[in-house]
Amino acid sequence: MGGPYKGRHKLRRMQKPQSSRPVEEVVKELQKKRLPSYPHREQSLKIHGLICAKCGREFDEANKRLLTVHHKDGNHHNNPSNGSNWENLCIYCHDDEHSRGVLGDYLTS
Ligand SMILES: [Zn+2]
Ligand SMILES: [Zn+2]
Repeated sequence: MGGPYKGRHKLRRMQKPQSSRPVEEVVKELQKKRLPSYPHREQSLKIHGLICAKCGREFDEANKRLLTVHHKDGNHHNNPSNGSNWENLCIYCHDDEHSRGVLGDYLTS
């Protein structure tokens, strides 16, 4: 049986857990994780306003990320510039609209 461990903790260096990654890298990662920007989203918000077409909830710059663009005909490639195929729905109504978790496409987080 080995003797009792004589800790030499006084000599032990304080080992900081290596700060795993440089800040820049973390920032880069965060940026990657940002919501995918749909090019027509801003446009739709501009055309239809920061308001949910379904529940009428209003949004502003601070929380407009909760407002998503719904494609009325379900075709994400149908993006007429007059916004006729878009509907601004808050994530709750949008979720409701699809009600099958299709939202993963819109929300990555
Ligand atoms: Zn809504
Ligand atoms: Zn939709």
